[in-house]
Amino acid sequence: MKKVVKFGGSSLANANQFKKVADIIHEDNTRRYVVPSAPGKRFADDIKVTDMLYSCYGKAIRGIKYSDLLAAIHDRYNDIIKGLGLSLSLEDEFKKIQENFEKQAGRDYAASRGEYLNGIILAAYLDFEFIDAAEIIRFDETGVFEAGFSNDLIEKRLHKTKRAVIPGFYGAKEDGTVVTFSRGGSDISGALVALAVKADVYENWTDVSGFLIADPRIVKNPQSIETITYKELRELSYMGASVLHEEAIFPVRKEGIPINIRNTNKPDDPGTLIVGNTCRRPKFTITGIAGHEGFASITIEKALMNSEVGFCRKVLQIFEDNNVSIEHMPSGIDTMTILVHKDEFQDHEQMILSSIHKAVHPDHIELESDLALIAIVGRGMRSTRGTAGRIFSALAHAHINVKMIDQGSSELNIIIGVRHADFKNAIRAIYEIFVDTVL
Ligand code: ASP
Repeated sequence: MKKVVKFGGSSLANANQFKKVADIIHEDNTRRYVVPSAPGKRFADDIKVTDMLYSCYGKAIRGIKYSDLLAAIHDRYNDIIKGLGLSLSLEDEFKKIQENFEKQAGRDYAASRGEYLNGIILAAYLDFEFIDAAEIIRFDETGVFEAGFSNDLIEKRLHKTKRAVIPGFYGAKEDGTVVTFSRGGSDISGALVALAVKADVYENWTDVSGFLIADPRIVKNPQSIETITYKELRELSYMGASVLHEEAIFPVRKEGIPINIRNTNKPDDPGTLIVGNTCRRPKFTITGIAGHEGFASITIEKALMNSEVGFCRKVLQIFEDNNVSIEHMPSGIDTMTILVHKDEFQDHEQMILSSIHKAVHPDHIELESDLALIAIVGRGMRSTRGTAGRIFSALAHAHINVKMIDQGSSELNIIIGVRHADFKNAIRAIYEIFVDTVL
């Protein structure tokens, strides 16, 4: 048994959090490869070390004095070292960082030092080997991640190392230039290590006990999801639910390695298990609800549209030509509706409308701009009758008008469109009917 464990920034924000992390690792000796983030926020309006590094480097390249800010970053690490009772000094590391800032080593280099230094401290505290991610995570000369090559490098390097700390978030080009993934990218590093060492589980430790069924800013104390499939997760993350970086799913999914989201502050909570397939019945008919505001719809009406071959293609071509991506496309006999992100659409609005008039001569075009989409996702829906009925009666009871309905052919999700003003109430009503009112 082999586990790869990734700890997020809040799990490593200060010495006390480091101690919790060490307890978690020592408690289970199959937790062999550890991927840390940079120190995150210690309290609500604290600043993450990664953000401090970005602004410090920004000052350095503009010729503004940055020594105070760099010293503040150094202090954050020194506090951790002191709190852990280690005799480590990062003096030389900070000298090197300053030199590299002067040489303008790049924004990515600057940001990566957050995880690099945290990795050094964590390795010393755990007495694990430290492996610089720049040695084993490779990007090509244009900055594109090289998956196959990195996989070989990680596999070879870790093959001879029983226990190691590998900082998250970055790698390097062949010439040593540091490149980072996008923000939150330590999740990806953890997944890559899990894939390369063929881990039995990829544990992703954060500050929540897994995925919640609904957004806690909308639903009060929502329950957490015990088991979710990659497919369900993809639907929910696409619609805005986030705990894990989206790109972290693909490497482990390929090998069927489960991801377990866990809470560093509540290590006894089982968290959420993300799996390829499962016979485990979900606790409720639905696995989760997520949604987004900011959509617009364009409804095109034309008598006998159904018999006009090529009608849809001509309309879709116009959106493609304007580089506007389409979210959903419900249609009727003589109508088709296109749902798009309002922000993307509005700059091209008049161009698109006039092109539609020219291309398909519609009888009428109607625009609506204050729409929100809500995805109700669940593998349990396939085997349960009346799911749609329950959603719509819950919404009717809450006096919410449904503007659009779309059920994916996999029966994994139902997407509904409502007005912005109804967005939160709609989510609450759906949560209530499926979770609070279990049949
Ligand atoms: N420290 C980086 C960030 O704040 C990467 C990570 O935490 O995963 O985005």
